[in-house]
Amino acid sequence: MSLPASDTIVTYPDGDLTSTGIVTLVEPLPDGRTAVVLDRTAFHPVDPVWPDQPADSGTISVDGAAHPVVDAVVGGTDGSAVFVGDMPVRTGTEGWTFLVCHLVEDATGLEPGTPVTVDVDPERRRALSAGHTACHLASLALNEALTELWSKDVATDGRGHPDFDRLAITESRILPFGSLDTYRVGKSLRKKGFAAAELPGRLPDVARRADELLEAWVSTAAAVSIARDEDALSARRSWRCDLPDGIVQIPCGGTHLRSLAELAAVHVDLQCSEVDGAVELRMRTTATPRT
Ligand SMILES: [Zn+2]
Repeated sequence: MSLPASDTIVTYPDGDLTSTGIVTLVEPLPDGRTAVVLDRTAFHPVDPVWPDQPADSGTISVDGAAHPVVDAVVGGTDGSAVFVGDMPVRTGTEGWTFLVCHLVEDATGLEPGTPVTVDVDPERRRALSAGHTACHLASLALNEALTELWSKDVATDGRGHPDFDRLAITESRILPFGSLDTYRVGKSLRKKGFAAAELPGRLPDVARRADELLEAWVSTAAAVSIARDEDALSARRSWRCDLPDGIVQIPCGGTHLRSLAELAAVHVDLQCSEVDGAVELRMRTTATPRT
């Protein structure tokens, strides 16, 4: 069987919930499941390198038989071997082909060359898209709310505020209608001029300021979109939101709402703790959908 020579074409960045495609690779896995690769798909896979947004759920159908997709991960090939999830390189590495691997328990009828239909569970997609949009808004609000704790010039975000989110984040998890971000403020961030010792005492004020900003932004019903030059899985994509002080962009491989009008509110909870001499900040973001 020849290995796919081009990236999977992905349609989920445009918000697609269904797609048609051709099976290009069927790879049995040691755990008994099978990875199915298509030439194009609407199914969002988790990226093992930065696993922020979990995979969609849904089905691959062939001749009217729906096969549940139990997980989906970014995989890749260097032309000789196929890696499902545990790739030795980052997504986008030159010379590699990156693939959406749909994992199924039963691959009966899913042979290379077979035309199939992909259907994504719309409720789970909407919940994760709401969570991811809220996550990006919350990161911008947190950056602005922390501005006064910086004493030196550092890299700024799309709104011109010190980019605490990018400089300190260690983990981001998109949840249904929310997210959980973890930040570490250690020696290197203190050297960059961040007043880590003041953070615990300022936390209630920071959370209040972030919530004020989020309330103002949600009330504008601003448009949200994903910008991209190419439809290949590994192409660079950016989240764009038309906030009152200008369009903001954040690099992003996930899925999003089309407008902040789909949200009734976004709220953050902040918690600080001391871990190995560093301050760990956890931000739990909650998105309330408009019903
Ligand atoms: Zn993102």
